[in-house]
Amino acid sequence: MKKELKHPKYSLESHEERFGTEEKCRQYIAELRWENGVPTCPHKECRNMYMNYYISSRKVWYCSKCKKQFSITKGTIFESSNLPLTLWFKAIYYFTIHKRGLSSCQLSRNLGTEQRTAWFMLHRLREALNNNDSLNLDGEVEVDETFIAPILGKDVRLQRKKKNHDAEMERIHGLSEYKKRKLRGYPLKTNRQKGVTKEVIEQRKIEQALLGERKNFEQPIVVFGMLQRNGKIHLEVLGKGDGEARKENVFPIIQRHVTSKSIIISDQSSIYKTAKKSFKDHQTVNHSKGYVIKGIHINGIENVFKHLKKMIQGTFFHLKLHHFNAYLREHSFRWNVLKKSDREKVDEFLPELLGKRLKYGELISRTFNPLNFAA
Ligand SMILES: [Zn+2]
Repeated sequence: MKKELKHPKYSLESHEERFGTEEKCRQYIAELRWENGVPTCPHKECRNMYMNYYISSRKVWYCSKCKKQFSITKGTIFESSNLPLTLWFKAIYYFTIHKRGLSSCQLSRNLGTEQRTAWFMLHRLREALNNNDSLNLDGEVEVDETFIAPILGKDVRLQRKKKNHDAEMERIHGLSEYKKRKLRGYPLKTNRQKGVTKEVIEQRKIEQALLGERKNFEQPIVVFGMLQRNGKIHLEVLGKGDGEARKENVFPIIQRHVTSKSIIISDQSSIYKTAKKSFKDHQTVNHSKGYVIKGIHINGIENVFKHLKKMIQGTFFHLKLHHFNAYLREHSFRWNVLKKSDREKVDEFLPELLGKRLKYGELISRTFNPLNFAA
């Protein structure tokens, strides 16, 4: 006897059966956004539900009350897109079922569109998941931060860029401490603070004002993550550079998303020292002694980070800081629906389409604003 699958397969064919024609897609969106699928005028102060006509040649509805036309996609992420809805639903299929995401190049091959079209589509789908503020974590919550830096490895372009950067820094500031010690053959591990007097600090300040600061090549991006045991996760970017993992950056995020009745579990980092005041309890694990001590661990959130890094290395390679939160949303969504079947994943995603919009101009002029983490 054939064993029944835990999650029945959901192929592209079965997806096309549901969303294979424009008519089916329109019908689905209508049912999603309007009660019983009855078209309702979206214009403010009208909201007319009666006697709205469909103009099939223009694919828009005509409101009999305010005499304006409206499209079914108004107020969804598809708003003012010229692409057929069937293509959008196909993109949603690929976007939700791939375990580690797919690049715009791959999506363009799957859909037969240009790469830039696929890129914009993917970013709109990520924007659809932008409702982090409504998420609340409860119970036992693991918190941790991680650093994601580009991996030089076999990336020749990046290696060349680093070489040029190092040469430029050497020209301005001279050899770095690291290089000096390496040339002289001194042991590399030293206490940097040793011998730093007030005069030396003053001298450094003067030098920095003249020459600018010595910068490392490509500072890592700092990501903060929270995981509710047997529940959902939430990830957010703190900024670029080691110094961004600060208490002032982290605490507002925890307070926004974690209820005060929760137990916070973290490593012994000084960032979380005061967590006991605002939450029910705060447990710590000393990572220098072991990863699980008396049953306390944060291996759940470490696992999330591991898979996040795999996704970036395997699919996207290099992400811009101002787009990073969008990719984190994608990863969080995927993690939160991990145990569901493919069909349930798609069904989970579809209601997110409503009430969000991303214009191309907004996307390409996006900047990273540390005060507005939802951007
Ligand atoms: Zn109207």
